[in-house]
Amino acid sequence: MADKTIFQKIEAGEIPAKIEYQDAECFAIRDINPQAPLHLLVIPRKVVPHLSEASAADAALLGHLLLVARDLALKLGCGDGFRTVINNGKNAGETVPHLHVHVLGGRPLGWPPG
Ligand code: AMP
Repeated sequence: MADKTIFQKIEAGEIPAKIEYQDAECFAIRDINPQAPLHLLVIPRKVVPHLSEASAADAALLGHLLLVARDLALKLGCGDGFRTVINNGKNAGETVPHLHVHVLGGRPLGWPPG
């Protein structure tokens, strides 16, 4: 069996994190190195390593992650603007090979991103 990802260790309670939300499909935590006043990670319990490896069978899960991201951003005060990001691959800055949606908000967010 593959080693647990850092997010699976958080899910199992082996690494502490501030869990903001959870349901049967996913959970959301505060990023340990926040890039904005609100910086959450919405993480599926199913390990899809990268968006580039997701399949049609993951379509409902991917949609669910986005709706959870939206709901949390609005609930946590980012009705005036928020951003969802999925980094895919080294050039995009992906560091954890367990698909996750970043939710950023609480300040003006520049475009294009770096
Ligand atoms: P990415 O670079 O898109 O793969 O995002 C991985 C994110 O996970 C980074 O923003 C990290 O700051 C975050 N991260 C890594 N370890 C932890 C942790 N133990 N608790 C919360 N966030 C973490």
